[in-house]
Amino acid sequence: MKITVAGTGYVGLVSGVCLAAKGHDVVCIDLDQDKVDKINRGEPPIYEEGLEELLKSNIGTRLRASTNLHEAVVNSDVSLIAVGTPFDGSAIDVSYIRQVSREIGAALRDRDDYHMVVVKSTVVPGTTDEVVLPILESESNKKAGVQFGVGMNPEFLREGVAVDDFLRPDRVVIGTDSEKAKKVMERLYNPFVRSGNPIYFMDERSAEMTKYAANSYLATRISYMNEIANLCEIVGADVDNVRKGMGSDSRIGKRFLFPGVGYGGSCFPKDVQALAKTAADNDYDFKILKSVMNVNDLQKHVLSEKIIEHYGGSLAGKTVAIWGLAFKPNTDDIREAPALYIINDLIKAGATIKAFDPEAMGHVKAEYNGQVHMAADQYEALIGADCLAIVTEWSVFRTPSFSVMKELLKEPIIFDGRNLYDLANMEDLGFHYNSIGRGVVNEGEMA
Ligand code: NAD
Repeated sequence: MKITVAGTGYVGLVSGVCLAAKGHDVVCIDLDQDKVDKINRGEPPIYEEGLEELLKSNIGTRLRASTNLHEAVVNSDVSLIAVGTPFDGSAIDVSYIRQVSREIGAALRDRDDYHMVVVKSTVVPGTTDEVVLPILESESNKKAGVQFGVGMNPEFLREGVAVDDFLRPDRVVIGTDSEKAKKVMERLYNPFVRSGNPIYFMDERSAEMTKYAANSYLATRISYMNEIANLCEIVGADVDNVRKGMGSDSRIGKRFLFPGVGYGGSCFPKDVQALAKTAADNDYDFKILKSVMNVNDLQKHVLSEKIIEHYGGSLAGKTVAIWGLAFKPNTDDIREAPALYIINDLIKAGATIKAFDPEAMGHVKAEYNGQVHMAADQYEALIGADCLAIVTEWSVFRTPSFSVMKELLKEPIIFDGRNLYDLANMEDLGFHYNSIGRGVVNEGEMA
């Protein structure tokens, strides 16, 4: 099939590359000429595991990038809308959705055959029906359901494993009430569900709601476990044991039970806010979501508070090494990353920061304008540092050389926001080790 992807960010690029890899002809559209040029050279503008190889093997054959949405739509069967929908404090900003809908609608005037328009961006219930559809009908002067189709297809890929998620989705959700549209969407996604994972067809509002319900539930699990961890510290329990004990219950499951420094990224924070706002707009008080957000706001400061408290309230003259800046491993995305909140707290308390992240340092450097010193590798960040704070669980941080760490740090002190290391081992190695929801090891050994 011939496919246009409007908006070539994390979702649009991964979708476009994976659709091309399965044999579709894809044009990825973006406003950003620099991004388009990079993609056409086979250079992904974002870091995502496996993306570069797949991009290089499809670019110039089944895949190309362009800024010309009109031309792409006129020559394709399906348009996927994958532009951003940031939360602006009071609602999701659908101005990008409106803009591409206007352009797609105008292009439909110049196309005779049936064309399917699919909203892939995360949008609140009613957006496809009340925002996208009327714009398409008025700009195209055509009737939806007859001359073109409209559908909603939320994207569930996770940054860090986005390519794998797109190629092997747990499920595909499609909101549309048109039989013709369903057939088009089946043709689009059949190559991705050969192993039997389901395509669920439903109405558009349910599809829109499914995405928010899923992300908000996952955020709820994280906030719940963070509160369990905080209470574990107070009552003297070990959240690692608690997590294993509860996660082996098949009704609960093992995944997403890891406490830490709060959720971040471009999706969970804004999606929880947007769902809570949708509830409020409909006079429904979604109490759980308010707590999920409150807990997360506090949790982003737990690690910095531990550090500041350890040094008696001020970090003047202290250097803190930070391992991990991206909001999660295997991505360079720092949108709403807990590391940024931690860095702000530490700088405010007087600390000098030396940081290392395998992929995200460029973005942080740009944001902090020289205030955060970037290290060439994880060990260089430790040279002359008073302590280490671990913020993102990149696999390179999981099995470091503890002897080298001890040599380089002024004192062997680690604050671990991701619970990467074994407590008994850290005790034997002589580290002052303070993690989340577990007892502090070698407390009082070092001031
Ligand atoms: P992004 O900000 O990385 O990418 C959006 C892209 O759209 C940008 O490259 C921007 O230049 C482009 N754009 C904006 N207006 C345009 C226009 N008029 N024409 C052409 N291009 C335009 O966003 P993202 O992270 O890919 O998210 C996109 C949507 O998918 C959001 O609604 C998000 O909530 C949702 N989503 C994101 C993820 C994720 O992990 N990032 C996962 C699932 C769903």
